Amino acid sequence: MLHLRQFASVALCATAFIAGNAAAQSYPDKPIRLVVPYAPGGSTDIIARHISEPLSKALGQPIVVDNKAGAGGLIGTAEVARAAPDGYTLAMGTVSTMVIFPATHPKPGYSVDSFVPITNIAAMPNVLVVNPKLPANNLRELIALLKANPDKYSYASSGKGTINHMLGESFQAGAGVKIQHVPYKGSGAAMNDVMGGQVDILFDQLPSSKPHIDSGRMKLLGVIAPKRLSTYPNVMTMEEAGLKGFDDQAWYGLVAPAKTPPAVLARLSSAMKQVLSMPEVRARIEHAGAIPVGNTSAEYAAQIKSEMEKTRKLVKERNISFED
Ligand code: GLU
Repeated sequence: MLHLRQFASVALCATAFIAGNAAAQSYPDKPIRLVVPYAPGGSTDIIARHISEPLSKALGQPIVVDNKAGAGGLIGTAEVARAAPDGYTLAMGTVSTMVIFPATHPKPGYSVDSFVPITNIAAMPNVLVVNPKLPANNLRELIALLKANPDKYSYASSGKGTINHMLGESFQAGAGVKIQHVPYKGSGAAMNDVMGGQVDILFDQLPSSKPHIDSGRMKLLGVIAPKRLSTYPNVMTMEEAGLKGFDDQAWYGLVAPAKTPPAVLARLSSAMKQVLSMPEVRARIEHAGAIPVGNTSAEYAAQIKSEMEKTRKLVKERNISFED
């Protein structure tokens, strides 16, 4: 026979389960917070803002973009890992926060199992941009300049341990040059100092740098892609400058805390599918310099897993240390 106390706790659990289920069925009935773990103006922020309005229309509730930058994206991401798994706190997942940190950081404050990947929104090439006054007009000239002046020049990144940092370290190892690393809270913050001339070089994703390349406030010297970009046909790839196998791609997706109810995840997945099939949304993402993806949750989870393996290998092969 059930003791009264046990009975009460079983009843409570059942009530909570039913209430949770009902909440999942009526989801969403209040605004959703979308955490961008980097500063405004970076590519994570740009992609989040491209989807927040159509996603809000598809779900019938406001999406509030919240920039929680710091520690290379760890702060905002860890906060979402700890949030209630009810669909009202989501994060932009990046190759840095979903792959590089869980694969290489001793204690990132969460694990890849802390999240359910919903969909990868957009992929994009990485780029090497410089202050326009830097006396180099292509990658080969830049490498020659850096070789002749070890430790004289500096590069900015989105923070320690991010893909931008990993690119900077891989570039130094591959090209045999020494440059100082200056970490920021995201490319949005890093870019300002590169344009202002306080830092010389920036490893970035194309969408954040593109407007400033096009306006001449930054000079695009290299693309980290398997082939040249059709939008910048005169700019060489890393491979052309002698850095083999250097084509790491960046991407931004939507992730929810683990244990989010299946009904909520299904609602988010179908809304994202709808958003990413809208021609105007796709056109805006493409215009920004990215490629819309929109894979399924299972495909996105498999992608994260296989990229983690690849990253561990790359970090070893390139002998990268994220310590300064
Ligand atoms: N560069 C990105 C930004 O500042 C973050 C790094 C990443 O792509 O993971 O938004």
